[in-house]
Amino acid sequence: MTSSRKFAALSLAVLLTTGATAAAPAFAVGEGPNYGGHETINTSILRSYDEVVAELKNQDARQPALELEVIGQSVKGRDLYVAKYISNPDNPTILYLTQQHGNEQLTTEGALEFIKHLGTGKSRGVLEGVNILVVPMLNPDGAMGDVNFPLDGYIADGGRTLTRANANGVDLNRDHVNKLQPETQALHNNVMRAYDIDYMIDLHHQGTQSERDGRLVSGSILYPTTANVAPAVLEGSKRLGSVVFDAVDSTGWGHLGRYVGGTAETISRNGIAVEYGISTLLFEMRGMSDNTAESAVLGQKSNGYLIRQTVLTLDATARAIADGSINSADTSFWDTLAEQTTRPTE
Ligand SMILES: [Zn+2]
Repeated sequence: MTSSRKFAALSLAVLLTTGATAAAPAFAVGEGPNYGGHETINTSILRSYDEVVAELKNQDARQPALELEVIGQSVKGRDLYVAKYISNPDNPTILYLTQQHGNEQLTTEGALEFIKHLGTGKSRGVLEGVNILVVPMLNPDGAMGDVNFPLDGYIADGGRTLTRANANGVDLNRDHVNKLQPETQALHNNVMRAYDIDYMIDLHHQGTQSERDGRLVSGSILYPTTANVAPAVLEGSKRLGSVVFDAVDSTGWGHLGRYVGGTAETISRNGIAVEYGISTLLFEMRGMSDNTAESAVLGQKSNGYLIRQTVLTLDATARAIADGSINSADTSFWDTLAEQTTRPTE
């Protein structure tokens, strides 16, 4: 029995023993079932690109405060969108970016859920204090497996393969200096340079076996780590991370580590912080929707909490910016937040 298989069996045993339901996991959901070569990774339950667009248009029709705009096209000609809530140009502005990597979809599902929430009465006060921009699924060609390279070896079933790279085989999150791809050009020309943005959260998914303090993480976070970032921008990033950490960690099921990331400015977390003076935060959720490596993909049993983790993150940060509490967020947790490590295999 491989360690992952044994682990999945243990999780199932816990589920059966406690009679836990999807509504309230009795175990830490960061430790939820993961792929061990036996669970089907079914991509058909994820929204297709067309379904993402349909939901954006549906919410646009329902929500007077929401404005939907096409910012460009992907390599294969798919429209790229920004969903905008701009109540007052003088308000601070946050951008949420998802799925630069096409195989990291649950953050997009969470962002759509967040947009839906913004249309309900509960969120009305929030929009008076913060401008919100959401760019969901920046890499739709990768998300739909409509790419100019072979799709051999991908694990997921369900009639759809999801790839990290765009249709040209380029990692969009290494293109933020040269901006050679149409997707990164659309983002920089029609979002980054078009609005006065203060904060950005770049949402991703990582592998399934990262842990902190002996417990698998539900995600990990990191601020810009290039030496060229302005101190005030870095401080804003750390405060943004503080709001996220408090929101997720206080759930009991969320468990975050410090992401181990490089200093290259081709990465949005670094490059966008330097080029535009935006306080950026990287959030890497646990497990990908598809990959060629078993240790990277996560079964759909974990979808619920990861979508919830995204919604919680977006909601908490929008509220903290709207009411100004982000300005006094305690960043001291960063001094002790351990870097995540990879769980050793047996
Ligand atoms: Zn990613």
